[in-house]
Amino acid sequence: MNPTKFLIRTFKDYYTKNAANLPKVSKFTKREFAFLPWDKSIMLRHMGFENITSFSHYLINSAPKHVYSSGSLYNHPEIPNMEKKGYEGCDLIIDIDVDHFYTPCKDDHDGWYCKSCFKNGKGMPLACPECGSLKLKRISWICEKCLDVAKKEVQKLLDNFLIPDFGIDQKSIMIAFSGHRGYHLKVEDENLRTLSSDARREIVDYLTGDNLNFELLGLRTRSGIVYGISQENIGWAEKLYNEIERLLKQSELDIEHFLLNIGFKKNRIRSFLNQKDIFLERFKNSELNDWSMEGFDIDKWKIFLRGIAKRVGANIDEPVSVDIHRLIRYPGTLHGKTGFKVQELSIGELADFNPLDAETKSKDPIVFHQQGIDINLKIIEEFVPATKIKGFTYGPYDQGDKICVPKHIAVYLLCKEVAEPVSMI
Ligand SMILES: [Zn+2]
Ligand SMILES: [Zn+2]
Repeated sequence: MNPTKFLIRTFKDYYTKNAANLPKVSKFTKREFAFLPWDKSIMLRHMGFENITSFSHYLINSAPKHVYSSGSLYNHPEIPNMEKKGYEGCDLIIDIDVDHFYTPCKDDHDGWYCKSCFKNGKGMPLACPECGSLKLKRISWICEKCLDVAKKEVQKLLDNFLIPDFGIDQKSIMIAFSGHRGYHLKVEDENLRTLSSDARREIVDYLTGDNLNFELLGLRTRSGIVYGISQENIGWAEKLYNEIERLLKQSELDIEHFLLNIGFKKNRIRSFLNQKDIFLERFKNSELNDWSMEGFDIDKWKIFLRGIAKRVGANIDEPVSVDIHRLIRYPGTLHGKTGFKVQELSIGELADFNPLDAETKSKDPIVFHQQGIDINLKIIEEFVPATKIKGFTYGPYDQGDKICVPKHIAVYLLCKEVAEPVSMI
């Protein structure tokens, strides 16, 4: 049976049962809607809906692969011409997706295949290690560890930046599990809606800690002595200060690992470790802010601080937050690469939320999890990593394997395009 036909039927079934109860995003009639059909043709954009009923009818009838609405508000969301659309502002959107940063477990569960020289391997190289080609087909898998890393980044954004530094009201922050490998945050605040792309770029720089000017934070040399960043209890100065203290109290092995990662050589690391206890004592107790350390001039400290800033800053997909015409997945709809639901969460629900093993049914992204329905599939991809959902592990599989798996696993493998159904349900 054709996998796409099977998935359309399955998605249609989901929307028939659930479309009437989808959450309604704020300013619904001012949002642009967009859909990606299953035939991988172009994205259908510039659509507007009068009410949630007409939107849910659309979903039931067409059961698209991906469903989005805009972060922007328009007077006429249905007009394709951007100038005539009547732009009125845009929510601040932050996307956290493990596709955009390294996690060690990807060396086990992510794979690539070079379209130029046909070599394949594991992990997530930027280019083919054999021929340098950028034309890589990637297999990116879902994984509890990766999703946990993503969740920690969301928590970091909330606890270290959006709430304390920007003073954003918790009620205006919407969080959602993306249905694949990350989370979205949407801040619906009238003051932020009017910000230009340039202003959003400054916010992004602040959230990531990229481009921090350490001299502005107090780092300087005078008469051969290096003075460190100021001890003010505010913003980035405070964050860097606390993180340095946290690092210096870690084991020597952890500190060594950090220093190696930011590019320091073995002998400099040894020297740092020898001096760190005296430094920490001075760092905590002296108001002189004297950061003199043998072998560490101001440029070395800048490298060190950039490394510290990377630990503190949030790993976000930067272009998403800067662009004022971005689309964001609609809550409650299905992600076409997994068959999982985009799940909205409150700030309080985030800490205990595990998307691959949710406790509450209404917050469970694995919507096709049903007892007693098994589906026969044939594996068509050379190698399929193991999939762990709801405490059970399926796979790994090899090409040609014939398997019989529960419906939610079958939908996932079909959405990933690594299998095809061999019989009807
Ligand atoms: Zn290659
Ligand atoms: Zn992982």
